[in-house]
Amino acid sequence: MTATVTVGPEELGDEIGCDALRPLLVGLDIDGVLSPIVEHAHESALLAGMLDDIIALCRVTPVAVVSGRDLATIERLFGFPEDVTVVGSHGLEPRGTTVEPSSEERARLAELVALAERAAERVGEGAWVEHKPLSVALHTRQSVAPGRSVEGAAWLGHAAEQVAGTTIKFGSEVVELLARPTSKATTMAELREAARAASVLFVGDDVTDEDVFAVLGDSDWSVRVGPGETSARHRLADPGAVQQFVRRLTNRLTSRLG
Ligand SMILES: [Mg+2]
Repeated sequence: MTATVTVGPEELGDEIGCDALRPLLVGLDIDGVLSPIVEHAHESALLAGMLDDIIALCRVTPVAVVSGRDLATIERLFGFPEDVTVVGSHGLEPRGTTVEPSSEERARLAELVALAERAAERVGEGAWVEHKPLSVALHTRQSVAPGRSVEGAAWLGHAAEQVAGTTIKFGSEVVELLARPTSKATTMAELREAARAASVLFVGDDVTDEDVFAVLGDSDWSVRVGPGETSARHRLADPGAVQQFVRRLTNRLTSRLG
């Protein structure tokens, strides 16, 4: 594995803006990348000016936001315009589609919801359960007892393993149980195909984004935001750095168009 390089946002914008093959598909996670991580996921908001920066970028190259959040919440919280491709639930909810769980998935989800609620009770104060069309997530970021959070997350992971057909995703202080398998890597591969992209750039900050980094090739670019182990080639410090990077990348791509 190549070592991850921490670079300045402008430097990285120059590098990718000049060297990326066109068309370049830009894939972006939302939380921790375009919006700072907040105590409660429902309070999340894009950094000031970020939406305009994304709109400017998508005028010069295809842009997709791929988030673990359900589509309805993405639309309500962030308001991306039509030109931006939006995919929710780690790939299960492309914008313009409606998720229809099968009866088997419905039954599996009901079982998983019951487990997540039991886990939240085990963790106690501050833990909460998020409901999505095909998954359920236990959030422990606001838990008052970190030890019980770790124990509750482990208990939930183990219990969910016994439910056949479940995909389990451990994120940063969240455990998500999916009744239908998916991954951001598959989603980005489909989007690459659809955009006939010659290069893909993906920017993410969490475990589910690592699935994408792991499958990107030599003419692609992977950027991890914030600390943590990663297989990404580059690292940026925080959403503020992402914003500077996006601006610089847009400038570079625009001058190449001219
Ligand atoms: Mg994230």
